[in-house]
Amino acid sequence: MRLTRYFLPVMKETPAEAQIASHRLMLRAGMIKQNAAGIYSWLPLGLKVLRNIERIVHEEQQAAGHLPILMPTLQPADLWRESGRYDAYGEELLRIRDRHERDMLYGPTNEEMVTDIFRSHVESYKALPLTLYHIQWKFRDERRPRFGVMRGREFLMKDGYNFDLTKDDAIHAYNRHMASYLRTYERMGLKAIPMRADSGPIGGDDTHEFLVLAETGESEVFYDKAIEDLHLGDRAIDYADREQLEGIREEWTTPYARTDETHDPALYEAIPEERRVQGRGIEVGQIFYFGAKYSEPMGATVIDAEGNRAPVHMGSHGIGVSRLVGAIIEASHDDKGIIWPEAVAPFGCGIVNLRQGDAETDAACEDLYAKLSAAGAEPLYDDRNERAGAKFNTMDLIGLPWRITVGPRGLKDGLVEVTCRKTGETEEMSPEAAAAKIATVFAGI
Ligand code: ATP
Ligand code: MG
Repeated sequence: MRLTRYFLPVMKETPAEAQIASHRLMLRAGMIKQNAAGIYSWLPLGLKVLRNIERIVHEEQQAAGHLPILMPTLQPADLWRESGRYDAYGEELLRIRDRHERDMLYGPTNEEMVTDIFRSHVESYKALPLTLYHIQWKFRDERRPRFGVMRGREFLMKDGYNFDLTKDDAIHAYNRHMASYLRTYERMGLKAIPMRADSGPIGGDDTHEFLVLAETGESEVFYDKAIEDLHLGDRAIDYADREQLEGIREEWTTPYARTDETHDPALYEAIPEERRVQGRGIEVGQIFYFGAKYSEPMGATVIDAEGNRAPVHMGSHGIGVSRLVGAIIEASHDDKGIIWPEAVAPFGCGIVNLRQGDAETDAACEDLYAKLSAAGAEPLYDDRNERAGAKFNTMDLIGLPWRITVGPRGLKDGLVEVTCRKTGETEEMSPEAAAAKIATVFAGI
């Protein structure tokens, strides 16, 4: 993309309404525009990041054997009357009436709807196990929408639902979700710690939240520092292998890690003092096992091998897709701007032309642009007639992982500069070597 052809409404001033870094930076970098309290438009740069996050979530869910569907945002209230949640959910539920006076709602979650799909089509245990998920906008009329996309009223969530014959099978689904979530967050460059959680209005007796550590997080967290050293890394996960998944769950849930809602001071104090960590975190996901909570009242049953009919065991599992954009920025920025991890960066590399209009410099930039585009590194070429300082500030603010700086002085010696946004390190090399270096980074992504 050429910057002169792009829509990147960056702001010089720090917006007064934004209290935390991610919100400030998303506004300043022209990623989002607020339309109403907790409701945002995603501008081109923001949308690219959101889509990258979605793509990783889709890939990891499908690797775990979960099937994508797409359910609507608007739901009939009658489904929610069946589960009893139409009255129980409270003021966060946006209730709407259509022209025929039918009660509708803008879905804050989809347990009822997916259970309805299941009961309409599944009769036999032979169709199980089954996990359906979607990535769809949700609405919760939050009392205090704030921190930009971190606590919006309209927000994008991945929500998945497992249907299983037995509790054992449903726990296997739970473990699949735990492992796939760990991998998902790691791929985004995040450390998200599963913490034992409270079940809240969705209900359930087995549940973990995934928290990204950040001072600005809304949850208070207590954990054993040992958990920070756990990584899935590139170990192969076989999602059909119950033992392996149980092992992963054990590994991540043995060290103490809880939010203030479930915190147990006696257990916490049993951790050696030097390993006790108390801090704050951002909830980026949650998994639940809740048995027959929805399948029983809604009549979602299957016939087992002996011919008996019983409600299916279910769980639901959510990832805060739009919240993750903010959470990644909270975890990765400096005083100049955002520092995108390569896997979610809106563009892989910036090209800064220091002398727009100089034939040789322009030609070198065009050549790099073509090579990087062909290599899948998605360059953003700053081809504006601007001072170098302004170009650097924009690149630092929008946080592309790499920058290639091209100017007449360097070109005289056959050199351009390659700068890493994260470390600030700059290396001089030939344009060919620069293109090859960036291409190698993005070859694996
Ligand atoms: P919170 O405690 O932050 O209100 P929740 O526990 O009510 O969230 P869940 O029902 O677990 O939310 O939803 C799954 C995920 O969706 C959460 O882990 C979070 O990442 C995201 N999420 C929930 N509410 C919002 C919101 N208002 N804005 C953005 N993301 C949200
Ligand atoms: Mg939650």
